[in-house]
Amino acid sequence: MNGSESLRDMGRDTRAGVSRLVLLGPPGAGKGTQAARLADRLGVPHIATGSILREAVDLGTPLGRDVRPLLDAGDLVPDDLIVKTVLERIRQPDAAEGFILDGFPRTLGQAEALDSALSDLGRPLQRVIQLRVPEDEVAGRIAGRGEVAHRSDDREDIVADRLRVYDTETAPLAEYYRSRGVLVPVDGVGPIDEVARRIWDALA
Ligand code: AMP
Repeated sequence: MNGSESLRDMGRDTRAGVSRLVLLGPPGAGKGTQAARLADRLGVPHIATGSILREAVDLGTPLGRDVRPLLDAGDLVPDDLIVKTVLERIRQPDAAEGFILDGFPRTLGQAEALDSALSDLGRPLQRVIQLRVPEDEVAGRIAGRGEVAHRSDDREDIVADRLRVYDTETAPLAEYYRSRGVLVPVDGVGPIDEVARRIWDALA
């Protein structure tokens, strides 16, 4: 172990050995903020598929050119493409100790592909944190974020589409994970620190 590794380990917190997690919730629920905090605290990478895709668009890579129109419209990119991207990321050495997935999986097909790949690796998901925020509140939060972040898909009409896609494609994942005994619902309404504390408590 070199010096920087031991320093990083000293700052790492653990929670009953839980280090492979998904944050599930609608756009604007605060997944990105909470995933980043939790990843920092657990010392594992924060893997945010939306950020990976937006970066590819900004860099103009082949992946970025393929997905750009879909992101702009608030549509999902094809399962095979995003599954491949995430599995490549999870196989990187820094994710060997765990990871926080944010924005993935978003469809049943993605969830099944993830489960099967992780079970092949002998590293199954341990918890799926469901951040619960009422729909009228998430729409307002995204409207506020659009003014600040200038995301092309934070326009009001596109937000409505993204919320519809969430309801039809992603919301059913709660039942999928509940039936597998890994779903942990957490109230996502309130100050960031308070929600972070609820998530931490829920991991115990
Ligand atoms: P996000 O930042 O998580 O809201 O993602 C922004 C956009 O990236 C989404 O509206 C989709 O177009 C695309 N995207 C991100 N994650 C996924 C995923 N797991 N499956 C399909 N499309 C995704």
